[in-house]
Amino acid sequence: MRETRNVDGVVLALHGAMVAEGLDEADAHVLAAVREALGPDKPIVASFDSHANLTAGFVAGADLLVGYDTLPHVDMRARGAEAMGLMHRILRGGRPPHMAFRKLPLLSTPDRQATGESPMREVMALCHELEAAADVWCASAVLGFPYADIPHLGMASLAYADSRARAEEVAEAIAAEIWARREAFRPALSGPAAAVARALAAPRGPVVLIEPSDNVAGGAPGDGTGLLAALARAPALAGRAASIAIWDPAAVAAARDVGLGGHFEGAVGGRTLALAGAPVEIAGRVGFLGPVVYRRDRDYFRGQEIDLGEVARIEVGGLHVILTTERLMPFDTMHLRAVGLVPEALDLIAMKCGSMWRVAFGDIAAEGIYVDTPGVCTSNLALMPYTRLARPMYPLDPEACR
Ligand SMILES: [Zn+2]
Repeated sequence: MRETRNVDGVVLALHGAMVAEGLDEADAHVLAAVREALGPDKPIVASFDSHANLTAGFVAGADLLVGYDTLPHVDMRARGAEAMGLMHRILRGGRPPHMAFRKLPLLSTPDRQATGESPMREVMALCHELEAAADVWCASAVLGFPYADIPHLGMASLAYADSRARAEEVAEAIAAEIWARREAFRPALSGPAAAVARALAAPRGPVVLIEPSDNVAGGAPGDGTGLLAALARAPALAGRAASIAIWDPAAVAAARDVGLGGHFEGAVGGRTLALAGAPVEIAGRVGFLGPVVYRRDRDYFRGQEIDLGEVARIEVGGLHVILTTERLMPFDTMHLRAVGLVPEALDLIAMKCGSMWRVAFGDIAAEGIYVDTPGVCTSNLALMPYTRLARPMYPLDPEACR
């Protein structure tokens, strides 16, 4: 940004949890670079993902920050429009609002952060109630992202108002509400074998089995085999229909050698991280083979084109193992439909994600069960090898207080 004379202000869409080597607060660095180019007097407004890890440096870097209100995130467009509206308000009034934020010594994981469910449903209701006051510009409840080894992980609140006192009051009210509900942010996880058995015993399907530890959207490789191994071993699966997607270009190549309708036999998954399970031997008919490109059909980035690369679907008894050469984020139903499966007709649908499965499958799922398998995005934070995290931190340190 070299020529800024004709710029009134800058509105950005940031994430807020970016970490680079040697740069713990990469988003604050971006804001500082924009400020440097823009000069001290013109406003900067940004939207941010509610998985941001807020810091004093980040919030000081912009005149106003607007966090997403939803998880699954379906309000990026609305928050972008809100950010533009607030930029206009700053430009009209000639000065930005007062800001207050609170950082909480509290880690939460995506499986417990859905804003349509308790405890975040109640936190968001309070946020919206407080935001309705004319002197409050904007308030955000911030979820944080626990999968980085930096000191400043954790949940937070952020508020902007006409006066400092009001901003402090709103930020404090939201922080107090989150903290009071901290126990409810603890994940409820089942072991893989128990989860598969429970799903098979359910009176109706589809039951969604969620493996947050291998959440591709969180940075996991998508080839973890903790849940796949339990599904492949489940004796009761005969006569039922289940699906799981695994990122494995080598296995796709092996399926291509066999050809559509041929018999595939080989190891799949488990190629990236020893932590996330060994490759699993499977054998079955190649039921689909070919490139898969589709447009998302649900509320998360509806219309976005997704390229799964080459895909092979292997029929292992009733288990459909979908092998892809590009990593899959299951935020719509198309990855199943595109390979000849009808999601509504499946008994079990396994997914590698946090809360995002609700966008695509919330209305057809009979139940969702969160499965505890090892992986880089585990919801079992006691397994995270933190070396720099600020302590004490709830729930790792139950005695943590604010
Ligand atoms: Zn997010």
